[in-house]
Parts: sequence; C-alpha cells; structure tokens
Amino acid sequence: MDEIQYQFDLLKAKNQKLESDAKMYQALVATSTNAFLYYSFEHDKLETMGSWHHFFDFDVHDRKEFELISDAVCEQYRGELRDVLYLEKQQEEYASCDVALDGRKMWVECEVTVSYLESGKPSDKIIRFRDITKFKQQNDELAYLAYYDSLTGLYNRNYFVQVLSEWLQRAKEDHSVVAVMFVDIDDFRKINDGMGLIVGDELVQVFGQFLGELRQDKVIISHFNSDIYCIAIYDPYGSRTVEAIDKKIRTRLESPLRLTNKMDIPITVSIGVAEYPEAAKTALELINCAEIVMFKAKSKGKNTIQYFDAPILNEFLKNIEIENNLKEALFEQQFTLNYQPQYDTKTGKLRGVEALIRWKNRDGNMVSPGEFIPVAERNGSIVPIGKWVIEEAIRSLSTMRRKFQIDFIMSINISAIQYKRAEFVEDLIAIINRYNIDPADVELEITESVFIDDFKDIMGKMYALRDYGFKVSLDDFGTGFSSLSYLKGLPIDTLKIDKSFIDTVIYDESTRIITESIIQMVKKLGFETIAEGVEKPEQFEYLKKIECDNIQGFLLGKPMNQQALEELLSKLVR
Ligand code: C2E
Ligand code: CA
Ligand code: CA
Repeated sequence: MDEIQYQFDLLKAKNQKLESDAKMYQALVATSTNAFLYYSFEHDKLETMGSWHHFFDFDVHDRKEFELISDAVCEQYRGELRDVLYLEKQQEEYASCDVALDGRKMWVECEVTVSYLESGKPSDKIIRFRDITKFKQQNDELAYLAYYDSLTGLYNRNYFVQVLSEWLQRAKEDHSVVAVMFVDIDDFRKINDGMGLIVGDELVQVFGQFLGELRQDKVIISHFNSDIYCIAIYDPYGSRTVEAIDKKIRTRLESPLRLTNKMDIPITVSIGVAEYPEAAKTALELINCAEIVMFKAKSKGKNTIQYFDAPILNEFLKNIEIENNLKEALFEQQFTLNYQPQYDTKTGKLRGVEALIRWKNRDGNMVSPGEFIPVAERNGSIVPIGKWVIEEAIRSLSTMRRKFQIDFIMSINISAIQYKRAEFVEDLIAIINRYNIDPADVELEITESVFIDDFKDIMGKMYALRDYGFKVSLDDFGTGFSSLSYLKGLPIDTLKIDKSFIDTVIYDESTRIITESIIQMVKKLGFETIAEGVEKPEQFEYLKKIECDNIQGFLLGKPMNQQALEELLSKLVR
C-alpha cells in the first residue's frame, strides 16, 4: 500500500512539475521575439509559436507549406534555407543559416534541430527564427569603418593599399600600367595653426569630397590621414590619365573651398606621381615613391606636380642615410671646422676667415656641407650643430688671438632655422662673453632665406645684433631675389657676391654690368663687398679694378684646418 501511495505521490509531483514546466515554456515562447516551428514526424503535426508574424505574413499548417517559408526569402538564399529546413534528409541533428527576407530589410537566422528514433527515423523537428537585422547592420558598419574614412567617405589607407595590391597583381598579368598620385595640401600646418583644427578638418573633408567626384571606373581615391590623399589609376587612358586628373584638381582649386560657415579658403596642392612597373613593384613601394616625389614638388615651390624619376629617389635615399648618420655625428665628435681666408683687395691684408664645417662620418667618408646642411635644416639638427659651430669658431678665434695677437674677423654661417630661434641672440652673446671676444670681430653670414618667413621678427634680431656690435653679412648675393632696392632697408655690413657671378664675370658682358652696379650701389649704402669663389688671376685683377673690397677663393686660399691656419697666421706675424 505504501508502495502504491509512494508511486502515486511521485507521479503527481512529476505531473505538477510537467504542468509548471509547460506553463513556463509557453510563457517563454509567447514573449519571445523569436518564432518557432514544431513538427512531429510521428503524428504529422505542425505547430507555430512565438512571434511568428514578426517574420512571416502567412501561417503554416502542414508539412507541404514549408515551401512558403523558403519562398519568403531572397532568391539567392533559398537553396541554402531548403537544406536546413529539410535537415532530416541529410540525417543531421543541427544546422543553421542566415537569410534575408524578400522585399523586407530583415535578416533572419534559421536554426533547425531534428531528433531521431532508435530506428533512425526522425521523430521531431524544431525550427527557430531569430531577427539578426541589427547585428548585420553593425557588421556592415564595421565593414564600412574597415574600408572607408569616416571624415571624407573616401577609401581609407588600408583598403586603398589592398585594392592597389590587387590591381598590381592584375596589371602584372595584363602588362598594364597603374599610376599612383600622392596629393598633399600645401601649408596645411599653417591653416591648422592659424584657423584651428575644426577648420582644418572641414577643409580636409570638403576637398576630400571633391576628390571623391573624380572617382570613375578604374580610378580609386583615398584619404590617408590629415591632408594626405592618394589616387590610383588602373591603365591610365583618356580622362583617366594623370594629366587629366591633375588638371581637374587645379581647375577646381582656382577658386577657394567653401566651408559650412561660408568661409572661403584658397588652397594649393603638391602632387607626386609614380607608376607601376617603372617606379616600383609593390603597392607600398609605389605609394612611397609617389610620396617621395611629392616632397620634391614641395621643395620646388609647391602647387605643382612632380613625376617619378630615379635620381629623385636616389637623392632621397642618400638623404635618409645622411639623416641617420647625422644623429650620432655631433655626439661622436665627427665635425671639425675649416677656415678660408678673406683678403683685402687693395692692401692684400688678411681681413678675416670664414668658418666652414667639415664632416667625416662613421665610415670615414667626407660628406659635403652642401649635402648635409639642408638635411640638418629639415630635421632641426642644424640647431645643435650650428651652436657647436659658433662655439668652436669663437673658441679657436680666442685661442689664435692669444697666440698671435693679430686682428681678424671670424665669419660664421648661420642657418635661417638657427636664426629664427628665440634664444639665438642670447646664446650668441653668452658664448662671446665666455671667450672674451669683441662682437665686432664676429661676422654672421646669413642668406636671403631668413627673410622668407617673419620679416619683422628677423629685422628685430638683426638690429639687436648690430646694436650689440656684431657684423652681419648677406651671403650668396645674386642667387635669391637679389633685388638691389631691397638692400637699402637691410641692417647689414657686408655683401658677399656669389661665386656664380664671379665664374662668368670675365666672359659675360651683362654679368659684368650687374656686378659693377652692385659694387657701386653697395658702396653708396656703406656696405663692404666680398667676392666669393675667386679662382683665377684675371678674376682677381678685374675685381680689384672695379673696387670690390675683399676677395675669398681658391686662388688666395682654400679652406684649411686650424693647424694650417695657425701656420698662416704665424707667417703674417713675423
Ligand atoms: P658658402 O657659405 O657659400 O661657403 C662657400 C663655399 O664655397 C664653401 O664650400 C667653400 O669651400 C667654397 N669655395 C670657396 N672658394 C671657392 C673657390 O674658389 N672655388 C670653389 N669651387 N669653391 C670655393 P663648402 O665648405 O662646401 O660649403 C658649402 C656651403 O655649406 C656653404 O656655402 C654654406 O652655405 C654651408 N655651410 C658650410 N659650413 C656651414 C656652417 O657651419 N653652418 C651653416 N649653416 N652652413 C654652412
Ligand atoms: Ca658663407
Ligand atoms: Ca656664399
């Protein structure tokens, strides 16, 4: 009896559990955002549950109507969906697929589970439909972010490189050409600094949108970062040629870009062009080459296009090597100074010496200042190097003074970069005071390039230096704007007539006329003149005749080290 009671209670408890499970199950299904389809093979019974009508606008009552489901999805997914819906045909237990519903922007994940009897016959099948539209959209957005630049809507760098790589592969098979144009807005830093990052960003966006319009079949456009864009052209032809695209860009930039606040900003761009297979074989190398020649376009005065050629690349590679080696040069004491004498034309007396830097790099090779000074100016290392030159020149001037008790001027080349530094004047004064040198014995050689940027600031410094007693000389006269009229306003003491004049002065009538008028004019202004690069006696005689004050050149003395200079000085003293 007890046993029967026990079994009864057990059964009752189980039933109650079943009932509550069923209720819970129904509640779950009813509130679920998913839809379910249950099919019993044994009883050929079909039931749909959950949010069925969220997915389908029809009901399914029996097995034959399964077809309605596959008809509801876009055609390209029907085959895959059928395999899943009739999973029992493959004797599988589980499968799923993602399908898009036809005519509706909805993505659905369809999951199917089939259970089997021991005999192997299917017993039940449950199909679940889940709305995965949001998830898919997020995925699309991620894909968008992976391929596009959010500011301009152009391809981003990674995707551009990827497509370009594929193009190069194809071009190799087709024996085609692929051109890359590296486009960079000129003076973008100034725009950013002067008008703020928000204006800069919008400018990048507006220009990027314009570039986007140049897109066509076989032309892709990308925004790399900041003010840098890249265009690739497969098989340049007709409107796809580099010239045609360059022209469209330049024509557009004839008028300024308009921002949303109605501000109009005029810009120019520098463009570098490199082509596969001539310049490089891989996408990254090709982009690199185009970038390198873009820098060349910048150095040629911007607002221009530069095509790749091998010497530009070689120069660039050489500069990189110089830049790398330059890092250790100061620290490793690889620099020395040479001194080239300047003589008074009339009396033949030593007027002064020009300090000229010499660099013997780690490999023991001499690198000419004409090669490494421009590199040092670009990467800023001219500042410590130039400071070393000043200190070393002043130090040796003070040593030679003490040794030989002889008056002469020490001329020191000063780069525009050094000159622009706020602390330049202060540092210079500190050095001459440390070595107890009279500023009147120090001449600072500057070139016209110092005036390019901030004329007022530069003039202020020049007056300050002159007031303190330093001499200032204008170097390489005749190579820059060389207008005689602007000389009038400059606080300088000396004018150095460039070697290029002296080279031709004997043969060329017009050079002679110019040189003579320079010398006369400069005399009236009260400046001293020095002719540079005098190599021949005829040049010397001529310069003497037209009353050029001083002569510097191989004819009278090559640049020499301190020991050689000391020997020269010792002879002068005797
Ligand atoms: P620069 O200031 O015009 O210096 C004169 C250059 O002409 C020197 O070349 C000198 O060796 C060379 N020269 C002098 N007389 C003759 C001649 O009769 N014939 C020929 N063919 N050449 C002559 P260097 O020493 O190679 O210097 C080249 C340039 O490098 C200098 O031109 C100057 O702009 C720059 N530089 C040299 N030392 C320094 C320095 O310490 N600081 C800075 N910032 N620049 C320097
Ligand atoms: Ca010089
Ligand atoms: Ca010079």
